[in-house]
Amino acid sequence: MEDKKTPADTITFLGTGGARIMVATQILASGGMWLNLSGTEILVDPGPGCIVQSTKRKLRAHKLSAIILSHRHLDHAGDINVMVEAMTQGGFKHRGWLFTPADALENEPVIFSYLRDYLEGIELLKEGKSYTVGNLSFTTPIRHVHPVETYGFVFKTAEHTFSYIADTRYFDGLLESYSGELLIINVVFFEPKPPVDHLSVPDAKRLITELKPKVTILTHFGMSVWRARPWEVAQSLSQETGVRVISARDGMRFDLAQLDS
Ligand SMILES: [Zn+2]
Repeated sequence: MEDKKTPADTITFLGTGGARIMVATQILASGGMWLNLSGTEILVDPGPGCIVQSTKRKLRAHKLSAIILSHRHLDHAGDINVMVEAMTQGGFKHRGWLFTPADALENEPVIFSYLRDYLEGIELLKEGKSYTVGNLSFTTPIRHVHPVETYGFVFKTAEHTFSYIADTRYFDGLLESYSGELLIINVVFFEPKPPVDHLSVPDAKRLITELKPKVTILTHFGMSVWRARPWEVAQSLSQETGVRVISARDGMRFDLAQLDS
């Protein structure tokens, strides 16, 4: 047992709800994920309520090194402006990076133009690129099939690799693009709803079976998954796949050290 003073690597779920009805009702919160990895803090997909959910948990936006947006939909980007302002201490500190698909900045931008100068910089996400923030790197392996420009991420810390599969329709390219000890999957639907570009529980099962992570965390639940009880869905998937599958809870903090045991 080493007594290393390295900070813990954690992922805090500031919300586990996805899609319109969940956002409107806040049965489940919709604040995104706060990563604290190798001492670098990053906010992913600050949906509606992110500022409330993060401050309530004493997560400090002025410590963020970056905000990463998977895509411009409201349930992912609703609080992006307030979080950019918070990260830059109201614009008084010129700091922090924003990583975003280009279409979030173009016509009908979801990020106000007057906030952009507060940032240290903006990097556009593109398919197949790598990015570095502090002690962390991540890639955007493939553009998702979703109505707007959307990317998921493979994050690499000194010790761990994990993937966040953001909103998308299922397609086989996902299997070639994502890997790691941990998969975080946005599962909006219980059953597939073919015309709508979201993952369902059977899609998640396919991803878990093929990609064989040590642990999978399901999140971003729509009403149909909520009615099926996400924790029961996770338990069934664990039994069917032999992989430990967890349903995220609002406020849950996952310590990546769990991947080592
Ligand atoms: Zn979406």
